[in-house]
Amino acid sequence: MNNKLYTCPMDPEVVKDHPGNCPKCGMDLMPMHTGSKEHGSHGDHASMEQDFKRRFFITLPLTLLVAFFSPHIQPWIPIHEILYHNGILFALSTFIVIYGGWPFFKAAKNEIRHKNYGMMTLVSLAIIVGYLFSTAATFLFHGESMYWEIATLISVFLLGHWLEMRAVRGTGSALANLLKLIPPSAHKVHDEHIMDIPTEELVAGDTILVKPGEKIPIDGVVVKGRSSVNESMVTGESRPIEKKKEDTVIGGSLNNEGSLTIKVTKTGKDTVIAQISELIRLAQDSKPSVQRLADKAANVLTIIAIVVGVLTFFYWLVINPQGAIFAATLAVSVIVVTCPHALGLAIPVVTTVTSQVAAKNGILISDMQGFEVARNVTYVVFDKTGTLTEGTFAVTKIAPSGRTTERELLAVAAAVEEHSQHPIAKGIVEEAKRHKLTITRGEKFLSFPGKGAEAIVKGKRVLVGNARLMTAKKMRGFPEKIIHEPGTIVFVAIEREYTGYVVLSDVIRKESKEAINKLKGLGITPVLLSGDRKEIANAVAHKLGIGKVYSEVLPEDKVVVIKELEKTGVVVMVGDGVNDAPSLKQAHVGIAIGAGTDVAAAASDIVLMRNDPRDVANVLELSRKTDNKMKQNLLWATGYNVFAIPLAAGVLYSYGILLKPEWSAVLMSLSSIIVVFNALKLRNEKL
Ligand code: ADP
Ligand code: MG
Repeated sequence: MNNKLYTCPMDPEVVKDHPGNCPKCGMDLMPMHTGSKEHGSHGDHASMEQDFKRRFFITLPLTLLVAFFSPHIQPWIPIHEILYHNGILFALSTFIVIYGGWPFFKAAKNEIRHKNYGMMTLVSLAIIVGYLFSTAATFLFHGESMYWEIATLISVFLLGHWLEMRAVRGTGSALANLLKLIPPSAHKVHDEHIMDIPTEELVAGDTILVKPGEKIPIDGVVVKGRSSVNESMVTGESRPIEKKKEDTVIGGSLNNEGSLTIKVTKTGKDTVIAQISELIRLAQDSKPSVQRLADKAANVLTIIAIVVGVLTFFYWLVINPQGAIFAATLAVSVIVVTCPHALGLAIPVVTTVTSQVAAKNGILISDMQGFEVARNVTYVVFDKTGTLTEGTFAVTKIAPSGRTTERELLAVAAAVEEHSQHPIAKGIVEEAKRHKLTITRGEKFLSFPGKGAEAIVKGKRVLVGNARLMTAKKMRGFPEKIIHEPGTIVFVAIEREYTGYVVLSDVIRKESKEAINKLKGLGITPVLLSGDRKEIANAVAHKLGIGKVYSEVLPEDKVVVIKELEKTGVVVMVGDGVNDAPSLKQAHVGIAIGAGTDVAAAASDIVLMRNDPRDVANVLELSRKTDNKMKQNLLWATGYNVFAIPLAAGVLYSYGILLKPEWSAVLMSLSSIIVVFNALKLRNEKL
């Protein structure tokens, strides 16, 4: 988090880790302030905004002066003597063009250097054409000038950019907001002393103190104290979470009433916040595919602007001669009104606001394309354990086969499961600890994903797992007939001899039912995909109202099921990421749930920070709304051209209707501002 980030003052969604030019508008990227610095994160954006504002307010009175001295305007002013003077007009306009037009010329230079001709090139072209024509009319031949039009055009552009930057600042940058969560300093505990040091100087193993009401500066485990912590800014979980000894805490969360002594476990790139920022950064580099459409449309508009501008000029100069200045004015007007500026903003402002709304609700979108696809979803496939259920297994029964005692059976099973990360394994180990059994960790551990595991415990080979594993490995004395137990059964065999089983049960999350109902309400088919026994999978599906169930599926076969479903529709896979990574990757859209502290591990497009399956429906709804907004914005950004271009070209001139350059500039700026505000309306969405 110590490396500096750079952002574009015009396009705050552009964030790079090196300086350079904005790929969108060609402006110089500015260093971005992170939370470890005291100032606000929008310092440079704000200073650009101020720059436009200043240039606008200096240019405006001069523009009015130009109007006062203009031959067009003077007859309207009730004074007797004719005052206009081309020399004064020339001097004033030269200043306005250079001072007011400067930011546009500078950006145009970048566009031209990158051969990425766009909005700024067009604006500069319009200003320069108008100015040169007027200058020629002043000194070379005697004709009317268009100083007044050019001065107004510049003023309107400055005003438009100033207002737009103000609005864009409102969309903010999710990344900068996140980095702001980290407090700049921490109270380090050092041999009974406490000193304040900068957060970035902390290393793993340091002990720090967090006082009541303070923010937790970094990830760690509690070594002393009790308190409740508000993690909503990081995970979106709004309930305060109780923290006591050995609990993990996340940097950026807020400590409530108690004092906590914390041992630092992760620093820099490994912290949760750093990983979230990384995800957001990836998301910002991943463009939704409508972006390509918008870019193409912008290129087409740039070409239209130049072609129609040139045609307009020749028409009014040669075919229907109205003088060079008239022809140039209309050409300038066409170029200005066709500027595809709003089009450049239309999609990015929406994605920025959407990621922000999502992040505020504990939803991290790491791939915009996946998120975009989610709007058309047919199937939502849920992993069972840890996704629709709590994923915390409690032992409900221990049944030794007679050769051994309950305690012994549990102890050997726990010795094997000590090595495993599976929720079932954790349940068995927990139970053994609860009974204060000494667990001799097994050796030569071997895992059979989706089936069980094996290890050598005190010299004996111990196998734990489901019936399929016991049969496949031909354990002696394994009962032929199916054992009916309400829960997941883990069989145990010692030295190839069946020795009994342990029953565990997991509870369905209380939000699962509502989550499934919401999806059905959206016309989506929920699917359950589980490695667990048919009996249990069916029971869970039945309770939740899921009609399509795949049970006893091995991890590698889950991918096959997803592929099969993908033949008939768009598939979203929701999993807790433990052994679901391949299927999360395979599905059109992968959603990792409850990955709050292991974000980077997710092979998914979207990460739900809260352990709440209802967020799946929220994501899909947000995806649909985002799509609508993008389409609306594309329309707002381009639609007005249909009537504006012909008007600017003088099609209705014979009826006395003309779109002058300054009105073209107003229209064009208005379209940009509408696009931004339309995106901002998404912020009011309740998820
Ligand atoms: P799910 O699809 O529900 O997440 P898994 O594919 O992880 O399930 O596992 C499927 C089944 O394999 C479990 O229900 C359990 O019977 C067995 N199993 C997997 N790992 C273990 C383990 N470490 N110990 C005991 N049984 C296991
Ligand atoms: Mg699972």
